[in-house]
Amino acid sequence: MIVKKVIYSPASAEIVNQYNNRPSKDHNFWSEEVVKALRKEMRDHYIHEQKHLCCYCGIPEPSIHGLDWDVEHIAPKAKHPEFMFTEANLAVVCKECNGHKGSKNVFAGARPADYPTTADAYLVVHPHFDEWSDHLLRDHLTYAAFTAKGRWTIEKCRLNRFDERVIGIRYPISDTRFEKTVRQLLDRQLTLQEVADIIEPLVRAASLIATRRPTD
Ligand SMILES: [Zn+2]
Repeated sequence: MIVKKVIYSPASAEIVNQYNNRPSKDHNFWSEEVVKALRKEMRDHYIHEQKHLCCYCGIPEPSIHGLDWDVEHIAPKAKHPEFMFTEANLAVVCKECNGHKGSKNVFAGARPADYPTTADAYLVVHPHFDEWSDHLLRDHLTYAAFTAKGRWTIEKCRLNRFDERVIGIRYPISDTRFEKTVRQLLDRQLTLQEVADIIEPLVRAASLIATRRPTD
C-alpha cells in the first residue's frame, strides 16, 4: 500500500492550484508542456514509493524511464478531471495494466463530489487504501482473487494476460477453481493430500510460465 503521497514542489503546487481553481476542468491539460516537470515529479515519487511495482499487477519494472511507466489516475482523468492532481488518486502503473483499465468507472457508488478516502468507496483494489495482498494472490504470473475487488481488478486490468499469452488459453474470469482451492486451503477445509492433488496441475502450469518468457 502507498504510504507517502507525492508532495508537490512549490512550482508544481502553483500549477495545481491554478488548475483546481478553474471553474471548468479539462483533462487535456495533463499533456501540456507546462505540466511536464510535474508529471516527472509524480512518476519519480510513486516509482520509489511503490518499490518499482505496478500498482495493479505487482510486476517489478526496474526502470525510472517514462517510456516504461505511466502515471495512473485511479479515478480516470477523462471522466474525473477534477481529481487529476489529487495526490491519493495517483500511482504508477505498467503500460499494459493502464491500457486494459482505461477509463472504466472505479467508484462503488454514485459520482462523488469529493475524493473518497475510504477503501469501500472503490470497486478497484486502490493502491492508497487497500493492502494488495488482502485482495489478490499472485503465483508466478497467475492471479487469483480473495475478494470482489480482487476479482474486479483481475478482470478489468486483465491481470491473467501473461498466462493467457504463454499457455495460449484465455480462461474466463468465471473460472474460480484456483480461487476456490486457495480459499479452502486458507479455511483448512482440505487435507494436504487433497490440496496437492488439486494444485499439482497448477504448479506445472506455473513452472511452465516461469521458464518461458511471454512473447507477443
Ligand atoms: Zn501492471
